Amino acid sequence: MQVEIKEPRIKCYKCMRPSSSCICKHINTIQTKTRFTILMHPKEYKKEKNGTGHMTKLQLKNSEIIVGVDFTNNARVNEILNKENCSFLLYPGKDNFNLSTRKSSEVNSFMGNTPHIFILDGTWPCARKMLKLSKNLQKLKRVSFDNKIQSKFIIKQQPESLCLSTIESVYTVLNLLNKANVEQCETKHLLLPFEKMIAYQIECIINPNNKKYRPSTRREMIPKDMYKSNQQRSTIYEQEN
Ligand SMILES: [Zn+2]
Repeated sequence: MQVEIKEPRIKCYKCMRPSSSCICKHINTIQTKTRFTILMHPKEYKKEKNGTGHMTKLQLKNSEIIVGVDFTNNARVNEILNKENCSFLLYPGKDNFNLSTRKSSEVNSFMGNTPHIFILDGTWPCARKMLKLSKNLQKLKRVSFDNKIQSKFIIKQQPESLCLSTIESVYTVLNLLNKANVEQCETKHLLLPFEKMIAYQIECIINPNNKKYRPSTRREMIPKDMYKSNQQRSTIYEQEN
């Protein structure tokens, strides 16, 4: 009798992706004045293939990841909140400070010289829940932007072009802060690991016989247009109207 032994999954513990699609060689860490704290939902932490929180952390020197759902009593989050007086929450909403439409001088005076931006990394329902539970985050000043760029994250994630992944949101925010002169950083290569990840996923669809391809991958490769459930969106950025 033959017993089939499945090949164990080998994981890269730096980018937290399967080693067959590790994106570490495409990482170009950039320095920013703005500090980003990625508040990651545990479900996002476990996600190997499509999450962009880990690569965002790797791309930004001035950033960290804190995993959790309710951050009300999270010691690290509260330490940051007590220390920083220029903390913001990136969150959609028409009443939030809109980085896309405000004048440079307004962005400057609102954000200060060294802003600290919290980002909720999880599906949209998860992000909403995180904010609903985290009393300390509710008090933060909120910033948003008009998402005019269409997400390149065509696989699975975005049922609508308004949704952006975490790394695309950070990219957009940094470009807006650059424009307002709050930030002076080079964002040219920021999306490179993300683009490589997408290219890899597209290759898996086009060439399913690729030996790196695993059948379990197939279920996740649903073209954007066929994707219907809001519950499974993996990005938090969309406009609330
Ligand atoms: Zn890696």
